[in-house]
Amino acid sequence: MLCNLCGKREAVFIRHYSGEKLCKNCFLASIEKKVKQTISRYGMFRFDDRIAVAVSGGKDSLSLLYILHKIEKNFPRASLFAITVDEGIGGYREEAVKRAEETCKRLGVKHVVVSFKECYGISVDEIAEKVEGKGGELTPCSYCGVLRRRILNKVAREYGATKLATAHTLDDEVQTILLNFIHGDIFRASRVEPKTVDETGKFVPRVKPFSEIPQEEITLYAYFRGVGFQSSDCPYAHLALRSEIREFLNRLEYRHPGTKFTIYRSFEKVRPFLKPINVPELRLCEVCGEPTTKPICESCSMIKRLLAF
Ligand code: SF4
Ligand SMILES: [Zn+2]
Ligand SMILES: [Zn+2]
Repeated sequence: MLCNLCGKREAVFIRHYSGEKLCKNCFLASIEKKVKQTISRYGMFRFDDRIAVAVSGGKDSLSLLYILHKIEKNFPRASLFAITVDEGIGGYREEAVKRAEETCKRLGVKHVVVSFKECYGISVDEIAEKVEGKGGELTPCSYCGVLRRRILNKVAREYGATKLATAHTLDDEVQTILLNFIHGDIFRASRVEPKTVDETGKFVPRVKPFSEIPQEEITLYAYFRGVGFQSSDCPYAHLALRSEIREFLNRLEYRHPGTKFTIYRSFEKVRPFLKPINVPELRLCEVCGEPTTKPICESCSMIKRLLAF
């Protein structure tokens, strides 16, 4: 079976939702082209941006770093650095941090590593121990996500970033949309967008250049490019509802190719109607000084609750 783009090489990948059969070279080129199209479609970057890339050490974030580094070379006034958050997950995060370090070194990208322990005085392993058997709805992931977001914003701002790029894929975005619906939090779903703008200047604007690329294609990209990434899953991932939604969506996609894109595009049409009319004013958290709409930000409230356990 020949590649139906170049017509010369053997196809190694079938894109079921479009019918394309691609050789390795055409596949890699198609992913990079798609990233550039997404960046330009949503006006994600300026020519002189200082970009902080959130790099966990997994395949998605390392592929993002690789591609953005490649693109950035054509923009002499832009610059790039990586932030890795070490949540403190024994037997898992150490390898990921090492992978991130190796790739940054190879690409010559500045690498900042910050840990939960130094920022909050508690690791995810310790959080998991505290919440285990307490019967609450929150899993380690619920804490981890909120606490990581705050660190990323803080560190990106402190290092002068004008954009914070994360490696959320199409799968991540669709999962989050469904999760918010399941939790009955549709207004929160309106925040699922490829680019977030903050008029107040307190949040570093976030961009997601992979938001229109399926997860399996990023995995294959990393594999073909020889990006050394951590392949094992986080030991807490299976506790989260997201994991069930992921399996459900993958089953649907297998039987009905294109389902993930359809949900994503449908949601794009609904999103503008979900935006709150009266956006609460941003202020600074009384405890940590980070931007929030409440007197005490979500991270500080979480830490307070954890200490009370
Ligand atoms: S799977 Fe959950 S606990 Fe593990 S790194 Fe991701 S958000 Fe954190
Ligand atoms: Zn080809
Ligand atoms: Zn706070």
